[in-house]
Amino acid sequence: MNDIQTIFQTANPILNQIPCPMMILDLEGIVVAWNREAEKTFGYCTEEILGAFYPFIEEEKTFFYKDLWQKVLHSADPMHLEPITFHTKKGEVINASITLKAFTIDNNRYVYIQFNLDAAEKQDLLSFNEFSSIRDGLESSFMMLAIDQEGLITYANTLFLKHSNWTPKRIVGKTFWQMFPQTSESPSTVDMIWGSLQNGKQWKGEVEKITKDSQSYWVDLTAIPVFTTSKKPSSFILLENDITEKKRLQNRLEKIAYIDQETGLMNRYRLEQIVNQMITENHHFSFVYFTIDKFYSLKELYGDQAEQVLLQEFTHRMKMYFQDSSMARVSIDEFVVLTPLGEWFIQGFLTYLEQHPIYINNTTLPLSISGGISKFPDDQISFAHLMKASYAAIQKVQSEGGGSISSLSKADHKALYTKSIIEKRLLVALDKKDLKVLYQPQLDLRTGKITTVEALVRWDDEEIGTVTPDVLIPIAEETGLINDIGSFMLEQACLQAAEWHRKGIDINVSINSSVREFRDKNMVKQIRRILEDTGCPAKLLNIEITEKFALEAEAETSIIQQMKQLQNDGIVFVLDDFGTGYASFRYMQLLPLSQIKIDQTFISTIQYQPKSQKLIQGMIQFGKSINMFVLAEGVETKEQQDILTEFGCDAIQGYYISRPIEAKEIEKLILSEPSLSRS
Ligand code: C2E
Ligand code: CA
Ligand code: CA
Repeated sequence: MNDIQTIFQTANPILNQIPCPMMILDLEGIVVAWNREAEKTFGYCTEEILGAFYPFIEEEKTFFYKDLWQKVLHSADPMHLEPITFHTKKGEVINASITLKAFTIDNNRYVYIQFNLDAAEKQDLLSFNEFSSIRDGLESSFMMLAIDQEGLITYANTLFLKHSNWTPKRIVGKTFWQMFPQTSESPSTVDMIWGSLQNGKQWKGEVEKITKDSQSYWVDLTAIPVFTTSKKPSSFILLENDITEKKRLQNRLEKIAYIDQETGLMNRYRLEQIVNQMITENHHFSFVYFTIDKFYSLKELYGDQAEQVLLQEFTHRMKMYFQDSSMARVSIDEFVVLTPLGEWFIQGFLTYLEQHPIYINNTTLPLSISGGISKFPDDQISFAHLMKASYAAIQKVQSEGGGSISSLSKADHKALYTKSIIEKRLLVALDKKDLKVLYQPQLDLRTGKITTVEALVRWDDEEIGTVTPDVLIPIAEETGLINDIGSFMLEQACLQAAEWHRKGIDINVSINSSVREFRDKNMVKQIRRILEDTGCPAKLLNIEITEKFALEAEAETSIIQQMKQLQNDGIVFVLDDFGTGYASFRYMQLLPLSQIKIDQTFISTIQYQPKSQKLIQGMIQFGKSINMFVLAEGVETKEQQDILTEFGCDAIQGYYISRPIEAKEIEKLILSEPSLSRS
């Protein structure tokens, strides 16, 4: 750095204060000072410009300014020049008038040059430059149209013209609306786009357009209102990308995805869309589900080729009879028709089929169909429920031999509806851990002590009220939510048993389990994990299974294996509701059971029926003979307890001892135990 540069360098903080771009050149036109505003405006930083030849004027043009330069150097007064065009480092254009003033330091002549950008230009400089580069980018990648307030086209870029076959001259002055096909939609998408632009809002979406010669094409359109000063947009820009190919492919894929190839009917997915649309638009209709009875036997009897004939002929008849209705094939031998017509008409289809038999190899095919009808909105109000209800109606028809069309009763529909609501609310309850556990004590008749409590699920829903286990459990089993209830109960029971254990109250907690839970191959792992996490000793956990469970477990060796592993850990298995099922001696030997619980139906008649007394006595003796602990449930009176004691029953459970109660109350009960020995 030479001396003079050092001088100007020292002056830099002062130069940087100057609110407009400036520079100082020496006699030769070499830059010796350059302020911050100049850096910002022209994009050159000080380091790269110091020592350079004045960079804004191309060297070959310098001679134009030669005279001027001499004049400036020799003048004592400042000079003003009208706006000159400059180029920034990026090549952008700036217009600025300049002020020049020569001065002397150390016998050397310098020229101070200040650029006077007009205020708007200065402010917009960046945005203008940015905008112009964005515009270049847009121009080269989108079809672009500019439209004035009235909807007249004022500009179209090359890509647009090429695509639409318009010439630049012809397109100007055409209207926005002329670019779209005439459609029957009302209000049409085109009006929607225009409306949204008028309101100063962008519109984005896929829309069909036409070329000058009315060829259709599809674009992905972004329509943008442009504001200058006023609040109302002054013009509009449309940016478009051609998506015709994508649309075509989509249509083809939709055909493949939504049409049943064998019959040409729509498939289940398309049916769902149509039904949902009809529901949204509140069209009333009957949802008619048909199934071909004994389809597989027909196939076997008449051969594979009969299947095709049957499907096609059946479809043909359905189309002839139901005409314009929407029809779908929803599985191999199942169809759905949506019709506004009444039940008498639908029933007529059976007669129609009889009158128009299907022939295979010149013999009539013995075709029988079953149908189920549900109505929207009278019976059900969603696609899934219309399907379910109609199918339930078919099952009813088939259980009576098939060959007819029927609908469910109001009560059936209501039950289905309730079920669906319970399903929905149960998910919420499980999520919020809204279920609760009550415990019912079992009294050991030999010691007079409470040694075990049964954990029973309770659910009070804020919307649907109390749902009893008798309603809840079957629904939960059907939907698979029983697994979640099971884990919840298991965890709660273990937490409770562990807490009591820590307090010195050693009491077993018995939970109810369904086969479904044991089908899960990870059941053992899960139970062990929960025992460990909650700190509950395995020997404090009882698991009650029902006879139905036992029957299925017998068939699935993995279930028995899992039970055996758990028994080895110390868990006690109890056979619940003993006597109500097909109690077989075989699975009592196969399964690792150690207790049986005689069902309450036997207990309730024990006082009055000598027969049931004999039966109960027999059950107790049987249990004892195979070394089982025998328990009786549903004990409501002292008389019942006395008889059971006399028969040698080990323990009892029932309202006489206590109803199912909260854990806290169980504690109280146990602490006041001596008074419990009611014998
Ligand atoms: P369960 O396992 O046989 O349970 C005994 C049922 O009888 C309970 O009904 C109990 O409240 C009731 N009960 C107890 N003592 C008496 C009595 O002296 N007289 C009469 N009349 N009834 C008595 P709850 O709680 O309504 O449970 C009904 C069934 O629901 C249970 O029958 C069980 O099969 C099932 N369940 C309950 N909680 C669960 C659970 O957490 N998981 C599973 N998988 N099933 C459960
Ligand atoms: Ca039980
Ligand atoms: Ca029971």
